[in-house]
Amino acid sequence: MKKIILVRYGEIILKGLNRPVFEDKLIGNIKSAILKSGDVRIFKSQGRIYIEPQIDEYDFDYVIDKVTKIFGVVSVSPVWKIDTDYDKIKSTALRLASELVEQFGYKTFKLETKRGNKRFPMQSPEISADVGGHILENLQGLTVDVRNPDFVIYLEVRESSYVYSEIIKAHGGMPLGSNGKALLLLSGGIDSPVAGWMMGKRGVEIEAVHFYSYPYTSERAKQKVVDLAQILSQYCGKFRLHVVPFTEIQLAINDNCPEEQLTIIMRRIMMRIAEIIARKNGSMALITGESMGQVASQTMQSLYCTDAAVDMPVFRPLIGMDKVEVVDMARKIDTFETSILPYEDCCTVFVAKHPQTKPKLEKIMQSEEAVDFEPLIEKAVAETEVIVLKP
Ligand code: ATP
Ligand code: MG
Repeated sequence: MKKIILVRYGEIILKGLNRPVFEDKLIGNIKSAILKSGDVRIFKSQGRIYIEPQIDEYDFDYVIDKVTKIFGVVSVSPVWKIDTDYDKIKSTALRLASELVEQFGYKTFKLETKRGNKRFPMQSPEISADVGGHILENLQGLTVDVRNPDFVIYLEVRESSYVYSEIIKAHGGMPLGSNGKALLLLSGGIDSPVAGWMMGKRGVEIEAVHFYSYPYTSERAKQKVVDLAQILSQYCGKFRLHVVPFTEIQLAINDNCPEEQLTIIMRRIMMRIAEIIARKNGSMALITGESMGQVASQTMQSLYCTDAAVDMPVFRPLIGMDKVEVVDMARKIDTFETSILPYEDCCTVFVAKHPQTKPKLEKIMQSEEAVDFEPLIEKAVAETEVIVLKP
């Protein structure tokens, strides 16, 4: 009898030729996420992945925490693996039930059996009834409740058999790296980390870029962005954060362009720089945390002007979400508390009292002619600092 971890992934989207590629990526991602946990055997069998520790002292909680953050994983269960021997199945189920009753004072339970091994002589309902009866005989005060039990004992009878009671939900999605790479514009706000997470969930590998206006924004504001990137890397794996010095450009915009256009011009220059960094690093698209109508720079007209600054797709996964929905997600992925730390960011320092909500692209482009941006952009890119984040 061995305690191991059973990993479930989305089977529905796995039909066809992509399946082995998807599974191998997922296994690779699991391997690298739990590298530090010690010697394990990881393998797939019949649409599941199994993690079998090869050492005695294995930190299951640590591994489960890591694995439930891996995109593509639907749920995880710590399970007892035993030979497919009916007496062993019975005694293991009883042992698990008595542990749960003792630990949590549970009063009701039910059994759920799946028989993958059709050579096994009993059918699932018969196994459930008989093993359930065995548990009832041995544990005083426990009763069966099939509708709303305090706990469920799951039995899976396959080549080997598995006994467990916990199914821990993960996020689903597609394994990282199965859908190319994109560059996330990461501010210190609530939205952009969520946007990066959502694209990661669809299998997109990310890099990130942050624009930093020292000394108008502080060292602590930058550290906050590094901290957010660090949280993201638990889901998105190892990635690079490009920190672009943006002060000179921001001052040039401030001194030479109409006040009500400052934000939109700044956003356009950010996009241009992001595009250069993306192309250098093999990213095929940009990602932002914009949501329709949230602020002046996120109206249809403003987004039109922002998009026109670049020649690659710009993904805005939050476009149709309300702030409340974004905040819920930020809490779920654990970026919220860091995002609401009060350090200023460059958008809040250089902000117009009455920013235009319906900018016209031709007018904006005319205003941009007041500054020779090319050399400033080149310099900013050249002076970009790269920070590597690891989960
Ligand atoms: P967020 O909460 O992500 O900051 P926001 O609602 O505050 O978004 P803006 O500040 O207008 O909106 O920024 C819109 C998007 O532009 C952000 O979601 C982010 O993708 C990008 N962005 C803004 N400021 C920066 C920055 N300093 N560095 C990198 N990207 C930025
Ligand atoms: Mg912001």
